[in-house]
Amino acid sequence: MARAHGDARALKTDRAGFVWDPRLALHVYRDDHPLKPRRLIGVHDTLDRLGAFARPNAVLLAPRDATIAELERVHSPEYIRAVEEASADPEGDHSRWGFSAHHDTPPFAGMHEASLLTTGATLVGLEEVMAGRLRVSFNGAGGLHHAMRSRASGFCIYNDPAIACGLLADRGLKVAYVDIDAHHGDGVQAAFYDTDQVLTISLHETGRALFPGTGFADERGTGKGAGYSVNVALAPYTDDHAYVNAFDAVVPPLIARFEPDVLVTQQGIDSHFSDPLTHLQVSTHGREHIVRTFRGFDLPWVAMGGGGYDLDAVARDWSMEYLIMLGADIPAELHDSDPPAWTGDERDAIDVATDVAVRDALAAAFR
Ligand SMILES: [Zn+2]
Repeated sequence: MARAHGDARALKTDRAGFVWDPRLALHVYRDDHPLKPRRLIGVHDTLDRLGAFARPNAVLLAPRDATIAELERVHSPEYIRAVEEASADPEGDHSRWGFSAHHDTPPFAGMHEASLLTTGATLVGLEEVMAGRLRVSFNGAGGLHHAMRSRASGFCIYNDPAIACGLLADRGLKVAYVDIDAHHGDGVQAAFYDTDQVLTISLHETGRALFPGTGFADERGTGKGAGYSVNVALAPYTDDHAYVNAFDAVVPPLIARFEPDVLVTQQGIDSHFSDPLTHLQVSTHGREHIVRTFRGFDLPWVAMGGGGYDLDAVARDWSMEYLIMLGADIPAELHDSDPPAWTGDERDAIDVATDVAVRDALAAAFR
């Protein structure tokens, strides 16, 4: 694929980084909270058992803490101070900043420190990729795409994908951000709504059925950014066939048209059919196609996790996705054995709804 800065940036390495430190998986939002960072232990241990980290092009990367200056690329100083205070005093009232003990984003002791490490885990991967030492990095702890400039939202405290995109844009790079979490990537969209330097594409279950209630095709950006926020709002119960059709109709053509220097992906797996929080019906088979497509773009690639609340599906799917990043074969045990697929009238209804979502998204996109 042609790219803005030509062949000089052609990838010289096939190495794939996996950012890992058990500390990324230790924090607990609340005992009954659906986001369980310990799910990453299942991913790491599955890959370890399969010998993934012994492969010659596999690289285990240690995370570092993000700096305050890096957080401030996206977040206000007042918000960062509020997170520090909530982290030290989780029993206090921090509702003004989006925290609430009994709702989506509870304050918890050590939250600021855990979030610095989660964010820095994305940034060490970014640095290795941009230095040309990795083709791709994957931080399963990251992808916290709902956090806003001055507000926590939807389990997300610091928006590591937006910080990554912003730091890449600050280097003068054209950034393509593709978000395949079941929820709209609203925080990343908001951070770059008025610029054409970061193209955000989000495929998600429609905001009519799912949090955060946004992500319609007419949210297309403003000013120079008009057309550079792209939203594909999918019907509940969208299965692999329809999801892959939507992805193929929107993402590769827009990536080719935009000619980015770097790819940033948020790979939440709460679109999986067994996920308890959403209604999409994607399986590991659909995801294999999509992640292989990401790899085929042949761009420097900074990848993150995101949502994912069925821990078995998370372990299998993200293990598969890292093996794709390595160029390794996929063992059958990682795949869903019986993925859902609509037939008859339901097939027609899902396909019609998908065609409308694709048509609206493309009509609103930049030319
Ligand atoms: Zn999600």
